[in-house]
Amino acid sequence: EFAPKKGFGQNFLINPAIPQRIAESAARDSDTCILEIGPGIGALTAELASRYEKVVAVEIDSALIPVLEYTLSEFDNVTVAHEDFMKLPLADFINENFNGKKVSVCANLPYYITTPIIMHLLEDGNASLFESITVMIQTEVAARFTAKAGSSEYGAITAALDYYGTVRKLFDVSAGNFHPAPKVSSSVVQICPYKTPAYDVSDEKFLFEVISAAFGQRRKTLVNTLSAVSGGRSKTELAELLENLGFRADIRGEKLSVSDFVKLSNALFELNKSSN
Ligand code: SAM
Repeated sequence: EFAPKKGFGQNFLINPAIPQRIAESAARDSDTCILEIGPGIGALTAELASRYEKVVAVEIDSALIPVLEYTLSEFDNVTVAHEDFMKLPLADFINENFNGKKVSVCANLPYYITTPIIMHLLEDGNASLFESITVMIQTEVAARFTAKAGSSEYGAITAALDYYGTVRKLFDVSAGNFHPAPKVSSSVVQICPYKTPAYDVSDEKFLFEVISAAFGQRRKTLVNTLSAVSGGRSKTELAELLENLGFRADIRGEKLSVSDFVKLSNALFELNKSSN
């Protein structure tokens, strides 16, 4: 029998009702194609293959490849790729496998790399490749993904996700539905990327630098955390800039929505440019 590997974050779904429900949520139309990350032994893959036009599943563990060949043998619309998802050149991979068709992502993610996988799906112009991204993640991480600005769960990752699209929680899944049972509870969330950029940002890379500076030291006010991204501007100058933009001089980064961050980073970007 196959022994699940902790290092690859292997917790397999054993209650068939769960992959059915996840697969149903993955896309509206049956002519959608699905990219799955980490098919495991194929529980979710089979549900996806029976509902949608084509499934391409990317699995890192070589020991699972023959298992998947066996469990998925009745489907002729599934391809299993033995790859590390993090190393895939995503745009090329999508083009080669789906040839211009509508693509959605659906996965029960390995929890040790949830955020890197999500960012790989969204960064570098990748977000527009997908109609939607439906993934099972830790409930605690789901709370951060869907947090409102100003709440204790709100952070750099929330602002980044809000920049790329809308995020909502679909349902919770308790640990008993997996083998082995994870120590945490799980939730399914759905991200719908914006088709065209929703925010008018001067420099995307700089926006993310400002966001990570703002959350680097959560307890400090923005005036104190922005020095690294403001070319050594004084606190008085920064306080003035914040007030000119309509914020309080003593505001903390965690209060800023993504559109506030866009406004702030655009202003700082212009200021840095003009003083160079
Ligand atoms: N989809 C299956 C299920 O729901 O029962 C398995 C989910 S399990 C939580 C995560 C899967 O992701 C495992 O099969 C694991 O081997 C695979 N995995 C881990 N890291 C990966 C990576 N970097 N690229 C591709 N697959 C990976």
